[in-house]
Amino acid sequence: MKVLVAVKRVVDYNVKVRVKADNSGVDLANVKMSMNPFCEIAVEEAVRLKEKGVATEIVVVSVGPTTAQEQLRTALALGADRAILVEAADELNSLAVAKALKAVVDKEQPQLVILGKQAIDSDNNQTGQMLAALTGYAQGTFASKIEVQGNLVVTREIDGGLQTVSLSLPAVVTTDLRLNEPRYASLPNIMKAKKKPLETVTPDALGVSLASTNKTLKVEAPAARSAGIKVKSVAELVEKLKNEAKVI
Ligand code: AMP
Repeated sequence: MKVLVAVKRVVDYNVKVRVKADNSGVDLANVKMSMNPFCEIAVEEAVRLKEKGVATEIVVVSVGPTTAQEQLRTALALGADRAILVEAADELNSLAVAKALKAVVDKEQPQLVILGKQAIDSDNNQTGQMLAALTGYAQGTFASKIEVQGNLVVTREIDGGLQTVSLSLPAVVTTDLRLNEPRYASLPNIMKAKKKPLETVTPDALGVSLASTNKTLKVEAPAARSAGIKVKSVAELVEKLKNEAKVI
């Protein structure tokens, strides 16, 4: 089974993001960038499927700037076989990414496409669902367990419990946090990854337009929280909740 994994380059989750002075977006100058954490889980799951003998080839794809090659190389070091970068300089919305991924799916014909459930920069939680709609593939979102039993049996994390669905292949799956714990790339594998194939394609060559249908008008940082205080007694706490915070 060929598995396609979509990985996004995002601001590292440890970075405290700064908003640009003109509120036009987040300041990316000199900021550490990494693979989106949910995409790391997607790569790990594909590698585990290969180790189990279920997956035969893992192709990773990213839609983004040339620098996204770094995240593709990381995925190759984690166990992917080859990588594709769809070059796009502008900020992309989910539909544009889904269209580019659909073109790659048409070319590669994977049986399974794994994406993260959400990119931690845009928080869209849309791309996997849109890709499933565009390709007509079955979809299992927020996966916390994946088993291949002829069909693909996906346990989904939903509000207040778990739902198990059986998907016919080909299928699109998006990963939730508890699906697995991604491994670290070893130094020998990082070295080997440098020699693995990484193809760069333009949206034009794939026959897709990545023109955005929406525009970010303004980005604002959350209001700073005021400092807390310590109270000496329960009575004082109740008095403050009643008369200052006015919440009881
Ligand atoms: P989103 O819908 O933007 O929250 O992203 C959900 C998932 O879609 C991510 O975890 C990735 O697997 C995939 N994805 C989003 N944007 C890109 C991109 N530019 N390149 C490759 N995959 C992407």
